[in-house]
Amino acid sequence: MKVHLSTLGCRLNQSEIDSLARQFAAQGHEIADRAEAADLFVVNTCAVTREATRSSRQLIYRLHRASPDARIAVTGCYAHLAPREVAALPGVAHVVDNPAKDSLVSLLTGAPLAQIETYDREPIAREALVGAVSHTRAFVKVQDGCDRHCSFCVTRLARGQGRSRPVAEVIREIRQLHAAGYREMVLTGVHLGSYGDDLGLIDGLYQLVRAILEQTQIPRLRLSSLEPWGLSPELIALWDDPRLCRHLHLPLQSGCDATLKRMIRRTSQAEFRTLVDTIRKRVPDMAIATDVIVGFPGETDEEYAISRAFIQEMDFAALHVFRYSKRPGTAAVRLPDHVAEETKKARSEELQAISQAGKLRYAKRFVGQTLPVLWEAVSGSTEAGFVNSGYTSNYLRVRAVVPEVLTNQITDTQLVGCDDQAVMQGVLSGRNGVS
Ligand code: SF4
Repeated sequence: MKVHLSTLGCRLNQSEIDSLARQFAAQGHEIADRAEAADLFVVNTCAVTREATRSSRQLIYRLHRASPDARIAVTGCYAHLAPREVAALPGVAHVVDNPAKDSLVSLLTGAPLAQIETYDREPIAREALVGAVSHTRAFVKVQDGCDRHCSFCVTRLARGQGRSRPVAEVIREIRQLHAAGYREMVLTGVHLGSYGDDLGLIDGLYQLVRAILEQTQIPRLRLSSLEPWGLSPELIALWDDPRLCRHLHLPLQSGCDATLKRMIRRTSQAEFRTLVDTIRKRVPDMAIATDVIVGFPGETDEEYAISRAFIQEMDFAALHVFRYSKRPGTAAVRLPDHVAEETKKARSEELQAISQAGKLRYAKRFVGQTLPVLWEAVSGSTEAGFVNSGYTSNYLRVRAVVPEVLTNQITDTQLVGCDDQAVMQGVLSGRNGVS
């Protein structure tokens, strides 16, 4: 059977679709990178915003048009929260809720899940596993679910209670992925900072990251989005190890305390400022990015102005700006004073501009420096050579034109310029010895 897999949304979804692809491949099915060739589609959907559910639906329509006879299996947060709506979409033959996702492959094929002991594909072949997705970093899911009650959050409803994978199991997977050629691991979870709470670990994320650094040789370890609380001084001190990527995504959601209170967030302006100051003192070049929701119910012009001023003060390396949308089942739906769409749009555009300026300011700080780059893809070629692109540890995107394909290598690279999209131009200055 030819299976085409697609995913939307967060890195957790990305890591899940990777492992579903590996399961199908281990059972002997072919992974199709072209939708037209597929007998079966698997779609891992997202429901974090209304826009995300719309994109999930559009993807299903698109796949059905590409191969009308193929069956479509839909999983992920949208499928979990609106199973009847999803089942009525054209071509959809299976709706698999989040708890059943781990056994999706055996549910669809009728064959037991294969024991995947080693991750035995070459990097390039692995990229073909998930269609358009191309990366040389692996997303490792270490945690799922969340026990908090942020009033806007539908993910919590879709993913259930917090639960963590044992440290030894994560280490084993990272060693296998490293042996198979991956250079960078990204630890993912719905509420990564709560890692280990259900296992009775104290400061669980610190324990996990320390164990990975001590017990594996993986050249790069990156943390995906991390709620801005519970980062202990011990965890922050682990960034003394250069293998831990200098990049943190700390979702603030609003820079105004009154709005944060209605969002039932466990942080405040003062706490967030202290956290960022502490991190920057210890790791001055850390890229700190964030998420912001604009137009949350009751966000007046004054609250928004406070939030915007704080966001500017924090000088983020990037902002992901979301316009608030009502998510059924969440507490925020019942709050009074919902904000007009045109106001949300104007606020969103203003913050996007602040984000772009911050991104450029951050990138320009590194022009003239030499940093290791993990090369991820080739986007074309010129007379001078192949256009290689990759990322630094602090998530600067770098392009270099050289006569060879560098994919999946880490090389020391001099950053000689930066375009208006904050893409750095790199010149190779030697290999850093990573094999
Ligand atoms: S901590 Fe994150 S995942 Fe949990 S409820 Fe809040 S926003 Fe949702």
